[in-house]
Amino acid sequence: MKIIDAHIHIGKWSEIFLNLSTTVDEAVNEMKKSGIDEAVCMPTDRTSNGELFAEVKNRKDFKFYFNAWINPLDESLGEFLEKNLKEISFFKIHPSIDKRKITDGEFEKYLEIASDNKIPVVVHCGRWKEMAGYEICLEAAKKFPALRLILAHLGGDQPAICTQCAKDVRDGGFENVYLGTESVREFYFVNEVVKTLGAEKIIFGSDYNLGLPASYLPIIDRLQVSNEEKELIYSGNALRLINKL
Ligand SMILES: [Zn+2]
Repeated sequence: MKIIDAHIHIGKWSEIFLNLSTTVDEAVNEMKKSGIDEAVCMPTDRTSNGELFAEVKNRKDFKFYFNAWINPLDESLGEFLEKNLKEISFFKIHPSIDKRKITDGEFEKYLEIASDNKIPVVVHCGRWKEMAGYEICLEAAKKFPALRLILAHLGGDQPAICTQCAKDVRDGGFENVYLGTESVREFYFVNEVVKTLGAEKIIFGSDYNLGLPASYLPIIDRLQVSNEEKELIYSGNALRLINKL
């Protein structure tokens, strides 16, 4: 079955990740070694959308989709989106790094662009509840009902948060909210989340260059679901969103 890593970073991080830096070649090698067929890549906080996009768009030996990092302070963002919107598969919002909640007025026009163009927005969700709590994303989902949101780290990268997030998304009837599995290690709770929300709402990601796809693939492999459901998580759901279906 086809496997897409729907959440990878390529480029250079600031001191938050000790200036870690990786190249496109290194990413391609790691994806191939891990058995990943295609990947949705985004830059890091010290690499621009333009730099990474130019490097991956004509790559012949590996299929990349592009995820544009949306930082409203990025002066080149407007022009970049205008020029390349058709080739951008996802948007990424990182409230913790950019110190701005997804409901901040500065994000509004980008959420509108995403909603109008069926571009899913991957949002970093974490334990910093006031800035990056999944509940804030659900507020945005209410305001933009057609907007497709992918809540990264299953909504918060901690068993109690992930399982509650799955329940809140289900009980709130959020049709267009998905959860990404990137960096979640606690396999038992990933299974709980999939049972609660359904495989059709879960998307595999590794958070490479911070995580290795090979570390997280077994968690999906061991899920107590059918092969068809695994395929949705590995690639089916991501492809449906990439193809704007
Ligand atoms: Zn990430």
